[in-house]
Amino acid sequence: MSTRNIIPEAKKKAVSKLGPPLKVEAFASDQVEKLFSRSGEDVLVVVEDDRILGLLSRLVWEKASSYHLSLMPGELAFEIPQIFQILPDEEIFSLFQNPLRRIFWGEDLLSLEDFWVLRPPEDLSPRRLVLKGDLAYLREELLSVAQDLKIGLFLVGGAVRDLLLKRESFDLDFVVTRNCKVFAEVVSQKLKAPLVKSSLFGTFKLSWRGFEIDLAQARWEYYEAPAKLPKVAPGPLSWDLFRRDFTINALALDLETLTLVDFYGGERDLHERRLEVLHILSFVDDPTRLFRAARYATRFGLSLSPNFLKALELARRLKVISLLSPARLRNEIKRILVEEEPFAAFVWLKERKLLEELCGKEPDLSPLKRLLADSFFRDLNEDEKLVAILLSLSPQKDFLIRLGLSEKMSTWCENFFQELENKRNFLLSSKVSLSEKVFFLEKGPLSAILAFKAHYPELKEEMEKILAAQKTRPCLTGKDLQRMGISPGPLYGKILKHLRAAKIDGLLKNRDDEISFLKKEYPDVFSA
Ligand code: ATP
Repeated sequence: MSTRNIIPEAKKKAVSKLGPPLKVEAFASDQVEKLFSRSGEDVLVVVEDDRILGLLSRLVWEKASSYHLSLMPGELAFEIPQIFQILPDEEIFSLFQNPLRRIFWGEDLLSLEDFWVLRPPEDLSPRRLVLKGDLAYLREELLSVAQDLKIGLFLVGGAVRDLLLKRESFDLDFVVTRNCKVFAEVVSQKLKAPLVKSSLFGTFKLSWRGFEIDLAQARWEYYEAPAKLPKVAPGPLSWDLFRRDFTINALALDLETLTLVDFYGGERDLHERRLEVLHILSFVDDPTRLFRAARYATRFGLSLSPNFLKALELARRLKVISLLSPARLRNEIKRILVEEEPFAAFVWLKERKLLEELCGKEPDLSPLKRLLADSFFRDLNEDEKLVAILLSLSPQKDFLIRLGLSEKMSTWCENFFQELENKRNFLLSSKVSLSEKVFFLEKGPLSAILAFKAHYPELKEEMEKILAAQKTRPCLTGKDLQRMGISPGPLYGKILKHLRAAKIDGLLKNRDDEISFLKKEYPDVFSA
């Protein structure tokens, strides 16, 4: 909600009811509990030498203590966005976009969400968005169900961000204020799209005309420990948006009025191309957000807010990436790979020293760059791509295990890589036949070979020759051998391999050459 939109009268009332904000010194950790419990306030203003550092919400303070982090108010203070700095302190305080923050409207105590719903007609002039095509149709269909059930319906998250950016989005997340199960069932019947219940967070999924649709009840998430998956409980929309990763994704579109719901300044951040967190412990709650940040910052060309940098610094200090499970890490890497510029996202992570924590040491990204540009890489499936990426970052067993490859597979990869390194001269030698090189490389998976090729650019030309030759097959097949009267057995494999080697080495051009070759090389078999 933009402060510019709030009518001055309402602002005055809100401020007069609140009284002056409570302040706490940046280092006075021992004062915080007392101030919160005595005042009943949800937000304190953190000061240092009378300078406002930012705001500390009860929610964030309690979160830090539940994680057993001894942090000082100054470390957790959320710097007030630019737009608020031109307002007097009291107003900053009352308008702080904390979902737990309550403000006054006339005589009534309201939450920010109620405040938004009240929407004084002219002065708030809410931002209206237009939906077109399938999206407009879908809105009509969903809205009629929501209205029958008398529940609120919102499009939320990345889809709203993409609408503002005029980018197409096929992942649509809808939030209803209650009764999600019934809503989902009726919607599924109406759209004739089967429902999949995603058990983890009680959400429902369906596919419709190429859209992946998620339906969920507005909820609050809380984390019992850093980097663990959250527990969920129903909550108001403002809380649902506050639990999200960045302000640009904490947007909602009220589908009844088609107005933008923007409690945390996401539209402004998007407009000013800035990535802003919702609170300083954001990456401690969920370090996967660091990888998400890499994608958004590079995809949309976003700068990082001071709060973001402070949250990042804390995440690095607490080494939160090391707390992530291998499955979650792998998933984030896979999501980077489907970005238009995956390499830029890796560079972003490296520049912020986040890969160091992952790889054990600062990785050299040039192998990765070469790998991503390699035309053979595109032929790999998703899992093979992941293995190739990991090996290009580091072929070390510990790193591979950390990313969830089995101990056996990791040891094998490390050994194979070592073997390749030892065979560099063999691979380059003009005295070794091409077929020998092909057979040698076929011992390992293409993912490992491509990663190796990326590590050793001096081998590029030769490796490409070998990889191209790998596709060579003789014209004759097992069936032909049978027709020639050779009885089936292990000899088939030997003969076909021999034929293939000769063909790779350019000794055989066609079928006739192959038959003559067999007659010459295997006279006993033919005479038998
Ligand atoms: P993309 O354009 O990359 O698909 P998206 O915004 O659609 O991005 P999703 O991963 O589909 O991202 O998630 C949908 C929404 O759920 C996000 O916009 C965000 O509001 C929220 N979200 C997803 N992952 C997280 C997370 N790790 N922490 C907080 N909020 C999240």
